[in-house]
Amino acid sequence: MNAPETYDAIVIGGGPAGATAAQQLAQQGHSVLLLDRAGRIKPCGGAIPPRLIRDFEIPDHLLVAKAQCARMVAPSNHQVDIPIENGFVGMVDRDEFDEWLRQRAALAGARRQTGTFSRISRDSDGTAVVHFTARDKPNRSEGTAARARARCIIGADGAKSEVARQEVPGADKGKFVFAYHEIIRAPEHKPAGYDASRCDVFYQGQVSPDFYGWVFPHGQTLSVGTGSADKGFSLKSATALLRRITGLEQAETLRREGAPLPLKPLPRWDNGRDVVLAGDAAGVVAPASGEGIYYAMLGGQLAAQAAHEMLRTGQASALKLARKRFMKEHGTVFWVLGVMQWFWYSTDRRRERFVKICEDKDVQTLTFESYMNKKLTRKKPMAHVRIFFKDVAHLLGLARV
Ligand SMILES: Cc1cc2nc3c(=O)[nH]c(=O)nc-3n(C[C@H](O)[C@H](O)[C@H](O)COP(=O)(O)OP(=O)(O)OC[C@H]3O[C@@H](n4cnc5c(N)ncnc54)[C@H](O)[C@@H]3O)c2cc1C
Repeated sequence: MNAPETYDAIVIGGGPAGATAAQQLAQQGHSVLLLDRAGRIKPCGGAIPPRLIRDFEIPDHLLVAKAQCARMVAPSNHQVDIPIENGFVGMVDRDEFDEWLRQRAALAGARRQTGTFSRISRDSDGTAVVHFTARDKPNRSEGTAARARARCIIGADGAKSEVARQEVPGADKGKFVFAYHEIIRAPEHKPAGYDASRCDVFYQGQVSPDFYGWVFPHGQTLSVGTGSADKGFSLKSATALLRRITGLEQAETLRREGAPLPLKPLPRWDNGRDVVLAGDAAGVVAPASGEGIYYAMLGGQLAAQAAHEMLRTGQASALKLARKRFMKEHGTVFWVLGVMQWFWYSTDRRRERFVKICEDKDVQTLTFESYMNKKLTRKKPMAHVRIFFKDVAHLLGLARV
């Protein structure tokens, strides 16, 4: 075997986290290998907030739809429409979106490699060696054993990450919801109530006992799906039900697919030596909403910054910065969303109250501002106080709807 090439960084996984990390490290002048196994479109509803579009300079042509309204549907079928003021929620198709991000990384100077990561070993001088099966084309059956050396490795290989399992203590501490969806062709004859510029979110025990179901518009197609941590709950039957309820039963099904959502940041994201995790591999999908693309891209950016710092100073402790900075900015929100999901998504009675609470204009503004811009609005401090006490009253069972 020839001596393997040495890179400053090898990024394992070319989803939003890995492609962002590779782009940003390459932009800083580092030699980067972006290893992605390819060949499978990531199952995803594809909803992204304006903050992501702004911060990561996503061009308009990647947005296949722009949702102007979100409809929340309670167990009683009571519906609350929340207009998205001053903006929209962007919808992306993950095959095009992810490939565009990988191409951007390559344009910044990262070398792309199609292949499947298998393990990491260390050379006699202590440098990490990444072993993988290299492929010319995304084809799982063939390939050749290959290796490359790296001063630093970013594990961005998604939920249940192999890099995390092998390298980072505590990677088995993840908490998951399993999400399943069907990509269907947008029907020519629109069913009653259909609106291609609205995201519908179903808070109904029959659709999910502990999460929610959704119908997201994607221009020519739709994503219809649901999630649950309950392994005995049939997500396929619930999605079929959702399609019946929404009149989308007869629409042509293009894909059926699912994947785990890791809803709890792992206790550690680095191995104290040369590996740092990003995105789903680090466990950063927001509870209650299931939003992961923004947090994956931010995680990729923070992992790239930490890796840059480590490469510059030679201090492995710099890798800890990725988690530290992420949790400082979003740790509280993840915790609050976790409590929200645990409390409000647990029974139909609570789901009914939750949707009712969302009729409140201040709740709508607060929820959307924090989703759209990842910042709590400071315009109405008294509204926060009021919502806080209202929430606590509901939590303690003191308030009735
Ligand atoms: C059904 C469903 C709906 C969702 N809807 C939304 C939504 O509407 N909005 C939202 O923000 N989030 C949503 N999410 C979450 C979102 O998809 C993820 O959080 C996001 O994709 C995480 O990005 P990532 O780059 O960390 O991981 P991934 O996108 O999973 O990318 C991982 C990459 O690693 C590669 N890889 C994996 N293993 C290996 C290996 N051994 N060797 C080489 N490469 C490997 C894969 O090919 C992939 O390209 C949804 C998830 C699911 C399952």
